[in-house]
Amino acid sequence: MPIKILPPEVASQIAAGEVVERPSSVVKELIENSLDAGASHIVITIAGAGKDLIEVSDDGSGIPETELPLAVERHATSKLSSAADLFQITTLGFRGEALSSIGSVSRMSITTRQTGSQAGTILKIDGGVISRPKAIGAPTGTSVRVQNLFYNIPARLKFLKSDRTERSRIDEVVTLYAIAYPEVRFELTQDERDVLKTSGKGGRLEILASMYGVDIARQMLEIRSNHDHLQIRGFISPTTITRTNRKAITFFVNGRPVQDAALVAALLKGYHTLLMVGRYPIGIIFIDISPEMVDVNVHPAKAEVRFRDREDVFVSVQNVIRGVLLAHTPVPGLGPQLRWSPTSSNSGVDVSWTVAGDKGFSGQENIPQGSQQSEGVGGMATQSALPSSRVPLLRLIGQIASAYLVAEGPDGLYLIDQHAAHERILFERYLSQSQEKIPSQTLLEPAVVELPPAGFRQLDEQIPLLEKLGFKLEPFGPSTMLVRAIPALLGNLDPASALRVLVEDFEEDETPLQEEIESMIIARVCKRAAVKAGQVLSPEEQSELLSNLEACRSPRTCPHGRPTMIHISVDLLEKQFGRKGAR
Ligand code: ADP
Ligand code: MG
Repeated sequence: MPIKILPPEVASQIAAGEVVERPSSVVKELIENSLDAGASHIVITIAGAGKDLIEVSDDGSGIPETELPLAVERHATSKLSSAADLFQITTLGFRGEALSSIGSVSRMSITTRQTGSQAGTILKIDGGVISRPKAIGAPTGTSVRVQNLFYNIPARLKFLKSDRTERSRIDEVVTLYAIAYPEVRFELTQDERDVLKTSGKGGRLEILASMYGVDIARQMLEIRSNHDHLQIRGFISPTTITRTNRKAITFFVNGRPVQDAALVAALLKGYHTLLMVGRYPIGIIFIDISPEMVDVNVHPAKAEVRFRDREDVFVSVQNVIRGVLLAHTPVPGLGPQLRWSPTSSNSGVDVSWTVAGDKGFSGQENIPQGSQQSEGVGGMATQSALPSSRVPLLRLIGQIASAYLVAEGPDGLYLIDQHAAHERILFERYLSQSQEKIPSQTLLEPAVVELPPAGFRQLDEQIPLLEKLGFKLEPFGPSTMLVRAIPALLGNLDPASALRVLVEDFEEDETPLQEEIESMIIARVCKRAAVKAGQVLSPEEQSELLSNLEACRSPRTCPHGRPTMIHISVDLLEKQFGRKGAR
């Protein structure tokens, strides 16, 4: 075929495809326009998962009657006039593409009235064909009605996900803007059902509660860090609340939600070793940075940004998150369940531990390991959260049940899980040594180990890392490894079991960062290598374990996120013995 310039309708449909991928992208662009117009109240009405109707009405500035036909032209914007402005952008829009794109793939009408004007104006576009504007009675502000989205591109319609998915993407988009702009009142209804209503009073917690429930919202940790050029604020979940994937992590840069794998990685680094491997936190982080330090003109849907000083931003994110988490990872205290229960067992005392304030855990949450709340249930203050992550100096008393060490600290009794503690110690030792090699034990005779194909692929990709960890492996056929050496720590395992330790389930839809893979693998090795419950330790071994734990950087949890110790305060003992505040 000869080269031709595409007819304008085709060119604009191609361009529209980048901006308007699905109904939720229309919702996003229209909300951004309303916010740019200074709206304080935005009403979003959806029917048929956005395919039948998307209507966004605001009480913003309105569009001047004379400019209305221009607003729907491509590359027509009131937000930018020169290329230099691109580095001073303080609005959400600037590309001048949304209205024209949406208008070319739907039947759209815009009704608008500026403050001070006599009447409103309505303009219709049908599949890119613009009609003449007409006068109409209308409140101040703008209302954009989009019907039959993609009616003229059936291929696009076919690519949409189920109505349920498209509806929930719309919910997500609206909620994100609602939390980013808490001083704006948002109302969302889908098929006449109220989905979200915010008060516009500036509180973000109410919106968090609508996203994750009141219980989780209450436990979220607030972050705040202020440097003149960079402000980081937001909410992150404590290490007790996790998800199986990263989808609950969102960053906003200058009020715009962005997808940035490196920012997510910086956040995860802040949680490094504090979460169970394969678990991810919830995080809503707002980064405010001067506009000239960030390029927002990277992506047609404005979903990505580029920082001028990446390193500075990432390190700041990591540090503020780390700081907040370390200040909030208390030693779990004993809850009110410490009680004398003569009937329950022959040991007489039934000591089950709970974390004060924890209402048990279900579904997504992992094992309780600490809580920042210090009030106990039933009026008993039982938890003494330590301000830092460190363990206080402990005096060893002994071992019980061949599983726990008992120690005295400045404020009461500490019970240490020997297996979890040893896992933590080995984990930190391995991590710190991962620059150098870890002692390896060469097998007298190399062993041939057959692996499941997925497991083989994982190991094959990680051979250099595994070598640092003391494994010497060579691929030997399509799914077979030749094992020449294993870490000395795993010396008691046969080679096949040692390899199996490495290839437990990676989450399928996740592609872990190299660093996550590394800690995952190290955590697995440590789990296998650590002393087990049931192993009697000599007094020397006990005190060595304790002092090694004291030297750890994050001594209070094992690499899988379980607590290494629980604390029974003198206060609790006194209450239990009826000396103080007895009930
Ligand atoms: P952009 O937002 O990138 O400028 P759009 O195509 O989204 O491009 O909008 C084009 C122009 O229409 C905007 O620059 C703005 O002047 C005007 N406009 C769009 N929506 C609204 C609105 N809700 N209120 C006031 N003006 C609007
Ligand atoms: Mg816009």
